[in-house]
Amino acid sequence: METQHPLEPNSPRKGQAVTPATAPATTPATELTTTPTLTSEQLRHSLSQHFSFDGFREGQEQTITQLVSGHSTLSIFPTGAGKSLCYQLSAIHLPHLTLVVSPLLALMKDQLAFLKSKGISAASIDSTLTPQENQAVMADVRSGRIKILMVSVERFKNERFREFIKSIDLSMLVVDEAHCISEWGHNFRPDYLKLPQYRSELNIPLVLLLTATATRKVKKDMAQRFAISPEHIIQTGFYRDNLDLTVLPVNGAAKNQQLVSTINQQQGVGIVYVTLQQSAEQVADYLQGNGINATAYHAGLGNELRHQIQNDFMQGAIQVVVATIAFGMGIDKADVRFVIHYDLPKSIENYSQEIGRAGRDGLASNCITLANLDGINTVENFVYGDTPEPEAIEYVINNIRDEMVNGQWELQVLSLSNASNVKQLPLKTLLVQLELYGVIKPLYAYFAEFRYKFIEAQEKVLARFPGERQQFLQAIFQHTDFKKVWGTLDFDNLYQHYGSERHRVVAAMEYLQEQGLIVLETKKITEVFSVDNDALSDPQLVPSLSDYFQDKEQKEVQRIAALVRFFELDRCLTSNLARYFDDQKAPERCGHCSACRGQKATLEYSQQPQLPDDMQLQTMLMGLKAHLESKAGKTPSLGMYCRFLAGISVPLFNRHKVKALSGFGCCEQIRFAHIKEKVTALI
Ligand SMILES: [Zn+2]
Repeated sequence: METQHPLEPNSPRKGQAVTPATAPATTPATELTTTPTLTSEQLRHSLSQHFSFDGFREGQEQTITQLVSGHSTLSIFPTGAGKSLCYQLSAIHLPHLTLVVSPLLALMKDQLAFLKSKGISAASIDSTLTPQENQAVMADVRSGRIKILMVSVERFKNERFREFIKSIDLSMLVVDEAHCISEWGHNFRPDYLKLPQYRSELNIPLVLLLTATATRKVKKDMAQRFAISPEHIIQTGFYRDNLDLTVLPVNGAAKNQQLVSTINQQQGVGIVYVTLQQSAEQVADYLQGNGINATAYHAGLGNELRHQIQNDFMQGAIQVVVATIAFGMGIDKADVRFVIHYDLPKSIENYSQEIGRAGRDGLASNCITLANLDGINTVENFVYGDTPEPEAIEYVINNIRDEMVNGQWELQVLSLSNASNVKQLPLKTLLVQLELYGVIKPLYAYFAEFRYKFIEAQEKVLARFPGERQQFLQAIFQHTDFKKVWGTLDFDNLYQHYGSERHRVVAAMEYLQEQGLIVLETKKITEVFSVDNDALSDPQLVPSLSDYFQDKEQKEVQRIAALVRFFELDRCLTSNLARYFDDQKAPERCGHCSACRGQKATLEYSQQPQLPDDMQLQTMLMGLKAHLESKAGKTPSLGMYCRFLAGISVPLFNRHKVKALSGFGCCEQIRFAHIKEKVTALI
């Protein structure tokens, strides 16, 4: 099928004829009904032909059958159960492009390498590509050579990408780690909330949501947002009868020794999970010193080294990898005999994914957690550090009101984060909330700057196009400020003199680059929103947003409490874990966990942390007050005092070097609620 020429004036985009522009964003696109359903035999044949697999794993065939018969699907399979194959095989049988949204570059690259090894044409558009590689991918997608394209959710904010993907026929949207869309999930990513809207704008008929972990609430939430009917949700059993779970309470000082003796009782290879990169190194050193063949693995190591370690581990040349959660994403080693948690996992969801890497061959494997309460409040502090204070929310609202021009507001996240003292992630959450409240609506994002240089002479470029297109290009070149070789486009001037819409200009520049006529560079991403004045003036706005964040904070803190409760259970751990993920089929007593063996764990602090005395605290708080008043002209709020003592960084502290003041982080071992009580009494 021929692609619309982007230089054509008012070129109608494909798909627009089917979906009226006025369709509400929440309306799901019409599901495919024309694709003939493939028989089970045909699917098996295809599986063996393309992937050389003999048979499907549980849930795969049902997922693929639903998709190729045109039904959007939510599939929940445990880690390592072959989720990716569901979209990979379906994509081959769908007429157009399959677009995969994945949260992690490493995951994308692993899946691409797999597809390449099977001779299936797939690519990603990501930050690691050179402009030339990017162009090559786009050209291959346009020509239909590439069937599967992988991107991150952030890619949709890129105006150039959106212009491009709008012109492509899409068959399916795949959302990997789809639980990120739910605020009830353990890994909520605000940008994911916009995926249903993108799906509708791009008129993508089919959706496949993939995740390894979803509680009942998260499952309902995901399905509802993408209008997936309950009969199209596929969940395989969660229970693994070959995993033996043990919780072993241990004092911080005895932990390393305990780890050595625990490993010495194991057979085969295993993974030790730690929270910090630094601990990965220290623990690996300690193990080596005790004659264990161990290696540290974390995101701080170079790519090459990480690959080397992964390979060595796969080959069995390393017995133990001491890793942060960065390890295991792409690892599919069947005979991992043990997984040990040296530190408490981040959440029950993380725990289940991490122990899921053990015993994939079905043979008996051990999962041991060395548990105490050390570090629990560090996890809690991350939560408290992310809750914006009411005055910060008000600052953002005022910024919208003051800087709005003709009902539009422009945002650069980093500078607003600094000015409002809200960290970037919660600021994004706040903006998504403002969207959901109807206060702002994203129009587009643009690069404040477009720079380009000619590869072919300007006259030759012009000579390639007839009539209006030539005049249009001429206008673009005339409204470019050239310095020697590179020129910066002046959009405003161009619009005033030629009246051309921005998106047509962007599409044209993109096209010239694709044709190898120019080199294009873009800078400074700016997001533009339209503003609803009535909604913005609602006096309840700040209080309700504040409540939302308080509520979110509570949910997170409760999630941490639930994690501790889980490890202290006196009833079967395995069965409670399965039920947490809505698997009702697990046995009530597994007989292979420490609770079933009658060893209930109690988690304690290795050393009961103590607050500094009141006099000392007073001095520190006064010091902060004086510093911020003189440097920032700001009197600290209750929240700021508490964060200061807890050692939680916020943009304001970073800007004014608050970390260097005496007292910063002196209470980092104390629970936040306790600090708050104390500070309230003191000020
Ligand atoms: Zn049990």
